[in-house]
Amino acid sequence: MAQLTVDIGGRPGLDCRGFCSYCYFKHAREVPPFGCRYCLPFTKGCEYCTRSVQERYAGFKDLKEVAGDILANLQLLSGDLTRITISGGGDPSCYPEFTDLIELLASLEAPIHIGYTSGKGFDDPDIAEFLITSGLSEISFTVFAADPEIRRKYMHDPTPEVSLEILKRLAGTIDVYAALVILPGINDGDILKDTIRWLENAGVKGVILMRFANETNQGLILGNAPIIEGQRMQSVEEFASLVRLTKSLTTMRISGTPLCDPDLGSPFAIQHEPDILDKLPKIHKHAAVITGTVAAPFIQEILSKRGSGADVIAVNKEIADLITIDDLKALDLSLLPGTVILPGRAFVHLAEAEDVFSADGKIRTVLRGPEMLTADGETSMGMTRDDLLSLEMAGFSALIILINQYGEA
Ligand code: SF4
Repeated sequence: MAQLTVDIGGRPGLDCRGFCSYCYFKHAREVPPFGCRYCLPFTKGCEYCTRSVQERYAGFKDLKEVAGDILANLQLLSGDLTRITISGGGDPSCYPEFTDLIELLASLEAPIHIGYTSGKGFDDPDIAEFLITSGLSEISFTVFAADPEIRRKYMHDPTPEVSLEILKRLAGTIDVYAALVILPGINDGDILKDTIRWLENAGVKGVILMRFANETNQGLILGNAPIIEGQRMQSVEEFASLVRLTKSLTTMRISGTPLCDPDLGSPFAIQHEPDILDKLPKIHKHAAVITGTVAAPFIQEILSKRGSGADVIAVNKEIADLITIDDLKALDLSLLPGTVILPGRAFVHLAEAEDVFSADGKIRTVLRGPEMLTADGETSMGMTRDDLLSLEMAGFSALIILINQYGEA
């Protein structure tokens, strides 16, 4: 099974016909490299945490460059090509040579997947048929609201009726997933109900609701909080209730990020599966497990079923994957034992974390834990409950093995 990712470059907001009002890249400042799981042990900053995460592209790549990349990547693949995914920092629908790009990809004769588009760049509804005949099989489409005027105002879509018509035509034939960032007071309530009804009638497979983040501790790590001054916010619990309520209105798959997926019982579906929990290794050493405020109570509950050696400590950041060194600096070192495990995807360089955690003179061992202990709404959308439970079982087993291997006796 060989998959090809086609990176077209582009800058969020700037290569999207202007910023959507809620775009997480709005006001983003150029920040120094965070450090991450891909950095070399002695060098903080790699291509991923310096450029990719911040979507620091110069603009869209021209088609010649994209074609060159495709050719080079194809040579590295073995086996039949099973899927082509278009990705980038800008919106594919705004790519200036979009139809030429699709024709080029169609010649590879594999299903095409557009990982993300707002549709703002499409001005002709017939592009839907062109995409279908060219082999597009799946697309994630940002909607915000099915009311064209709301879409025009908050997404700055100059042709919202056309974008919605394209979505509708695509959903009648291929797999379409819709994404909605929820701005309380603007596209929740009756607007959301109407949008869900519209999407269901169109034949959309699933909807991902995304809680709007407006503060650093909610995950805005590019120095750009707030995105919308004075915007009313939802707590994580309020947002999860909205996701459950939305699910009760429709037969479509509904998931929310950061919480929750009502069909699968995620995140941390494993907590309701005593037989699976019994199969996890027992904890017989002692370590701190650092995480975000959303995951902390779940992780503590699950690990406590396998022993008392794990101290789960939440930093002041809701999402564990978006923890940075500043969050670690704010921790009370007297709470930390000699072994500390960070979330696998935290934006932290291990050597720097070791320095921070040894500032009180006690040398601590700092490790990176498994990359995933559960799946967020975007990931779980394409999973079955068994897939999810296997992922969680693998994640927690790896975490406990790490505690037992490196923890204090
Ligand atoms: S389309 Fe996406 S990346 Fe572009 S401005 Fe809107 S939210 Fe940002």
